Amino acid sequence: VRCSFQHLGTTCKSKCKHRCCHPKYQFMCIFCKIAAGEIPSTKVYEDETVFAFRDIAPQAPTHILVIPKAHIGSVAEVTPANSAVVAHIFEVIPMIAQTEGLSEGYRVVSNCGAHAGQTVHHLHFHILGGKQLAMEMA
Ligand code: 5GP
Ligand code: ZN
Repeated sequence: VRCSFQHLGTTCKSKCKHRCCHPKYQFMCIFCKIAAGEIPSTKVYEDETVFAFRDIAPQAPTHILVIPKAHIGSVAEVTPANSAVVAHIFEVIPMIAQTEGLSEGYRVVSNCGAHAGQTVHHLHFHILGGKQLAMEMA
């Protein structure tokens, strides 16, 4: 199986831990494809496990989405088995904020499920900043 997800350009060996590589899980959602470079985006950060890019419909002067490369559906799907990447995302977020010059502060948001209005079902954290944000959270 060619792994178009984490191991670009290589043949995925059975040891690959990324479920998108396995025939059973070969769906690639829109954010899986963005992380794999199959859908273009304005990348602001990338490492082995995390990808960050500018939101296509920014709601603040700075609006960045930070995602795990491995598919996790939402906060509701975070478990002890996959939470290390979430911890890593929260190391990456302040690095991005500093690079983006968000010294006056910023908001981190993750919509989970229907009531929160989650539209893309791949875990993502919005970084919003660059202006005084609305005080209402809901
Ligand atoms: P949600 O409502 O699920 O929390 O946020 C999804 C976000 O993804 C929205 O802010 C939306 O603008 C953004 N988005 C949806 N599709 C794309 C895309 O193809 N490219 C980029 N860069 N952002 C997208
Ligand atoms: Zn995905």
